[in-house]
Amino acid sequence: MSQSANPKTQSAAAETVKLLIGGKFVESKTTEWRDIINPATQEVLARVPFATKDEVDAAVAAAKEAFKTWRFTPIGARARIFLKYQQLIRENMKEIAAVLTAEQGKTLPDAEGDVFRGLEVVEHAANIGNLQMGELANNVANGVDTYTVLQPLGVCAGITPFNFPAMIPLWMFPMAIACGNTFVLKPSEQDPLSTMKLVELAIEAGIPAGVLNVVHGGPEVVNAICDHADIKAVSFVGSTAVGTHVYNRATLAGKRVQCMMGAKNHAIVLPDAAKEQSINALVGSSFGAAGQRCMATSVVVLVGDAQKWIPEFVEKAKKLSVNAGHEPNTDLGPVISCAAKDRICTLIEQGVKGGAKLELDGRAAAPKGYEKGNFVGPTIFSGVTAKMDIYNKEVFGPVLCIAGVETLDDAIAFINSNPNGNGTAIFTQSGAAARKFQEEIDVGQVGINVPIPVPVPLFSFSGSRASKLGDLGPYGKQVILFYTQTKTVTSRWFDDAASTGGVNTTISLK
Ligand code: NAD
Repeated sequence: MSQSANPKTQSAAAETVKLLIGGKFVESKTTEWRDIINPATQEVLARVPFATKDEVDAAVAAAKEAFKTWRFTPIGARARIFLKYQQLIRENMKEIAAVLTAEQGKTLPDAEGDVFRGLEVVEHAANIGNLQMGELANNVANGVDTYTVLQPLGVCAGITPFNFPAMIPLWMFPMAIACGNTFVLKPSEQDPLSTMKLVELAIEAGIPAGVLNVVHGGPEVVNAICDHADIKAVSFVGSTAVGTHVYNRATLAGKRVQCMMGAKNHAIVLPDAAKEQSINALVGSSFGAAGQRCMATSVVVLVGDAQKWIPEFVEKAKKLSVNAGHEPNTDLGPVISCAAKDRICTLIEQGVKGGAKLELDGRAAAPKGYEKGNFVGPTIFSGVTAKMDIYNKEVFGPVLCIAGVETLDDAIAFINSNPNGNGTAIFTQSGAAARKFQEEIDVGQVGINVPIPVPVPLFSFSGSRASKLGDLGPYGKQVILFYTQTKTVTSRWFDDAASTGGVNTTISLK
């Protein structure tokens, strides 16, 4: 879902966002800039450059040079940088969250959550000594041992979306760098300010010059990253259309690529579910962050008698407060851009035309004092079927589709026939129903009475099917394999009897 349609204007007075190349924050020489706009007020916060090809090349060259020494840096030295980094992030949490709310729109507590979920990955990166371990098999033949070492790849790159400008960059560069790689980050051009605060703190924590670099921009910079011969691996998080393009282009150029992409996340509610808690959880996960989470609940499938609960969903959703993210007690802030709001409103219109019942319409939301903001209030459709556009497209806004079915089997079949596989959940008090769901549902991240089952970094993010390309997920154990090359070493020292037996012309180890 590229929302790069905002006009690229030239608000000459605004502060400019810098590139980070070879340890220096530098002004881009580009002629192409874009305004970063507060979505609650339309105030221009800063201007971000669209880096030139030479600047991308310079960032990659700096990373390539830094890799020569960083790859041999002792584990303890790497780990200690991330110990310091986690402390700096904690100390600056409020300031980063305030910047994040201003540029992205989400509420202050949710912005702190965005930083915190990234901080957890930094804490995990500080544990790299226990994570990047090889294996050893003793005596695989007479006097022969085989062991593995997990070695860094070289220059890795990350391309991130607008919706988690703290968490998602932190999914990427801390683990890549902790493994001994160097990194080029391309943040979202819509809200790079909080990402840059985190980058500044990473440098303050001791990441050496050239180990972390940042270039800004849009499609041209992304394509340059995909094509660059000196980049070994690309991590992408964003929409399905762009992720598929990045995957195809970068793998064609010989890179290792992981892409986490779009979603349509369903939650099943069985009639035996704890009613109050389930509705609270689902209203929160549908409308929190104005629905701009890849793991937001966008479809609730009510089973049997639970179909009578629609009025309670509507009542709870109506009570949510829509306002600027920094205002106290706000539940939903604005969506990221005017273009995003237009797109969401068009999809709501299509939902009405397609025959879904509009139970709650958030299109007229205009909080007092923020009438120019990109606000959409909670919106609920019932009677949604699999053929409708409102169901088949990722809305990425505060719009909940409710469908009704008669049995758990029907609900599982409904979800499994949707192509996406990012997240899903079931609400029930029955262990047997929950276990059946866990076993039969074809979605990578499953919640049981948990609406947004994003795993902590002891595990990896494990979206599946159309929501993911590449085998290994971000952070956790899987990303160690993504950011390293396994080398197997088979070794013999010539003081064993077997090595004195003459020439061996066979494949067997003797
Ligand atoms: P997006 O795909 O528009 O942008 C992501 C990145 O790609 C940005 O850095 C952007 O500059 C770049 N980009 C945009 N258009 C491009 C193009 N034509 N060619 C090359 N690069 C391009 O995504 P977004 O709107 O920033 O983020 C929202 C999307 O991200 C949603 O679809 C959401 O589901 C998805 N998302 C997925 C996950 C996940 O883990 N699965 C997490 C967060 C967001």
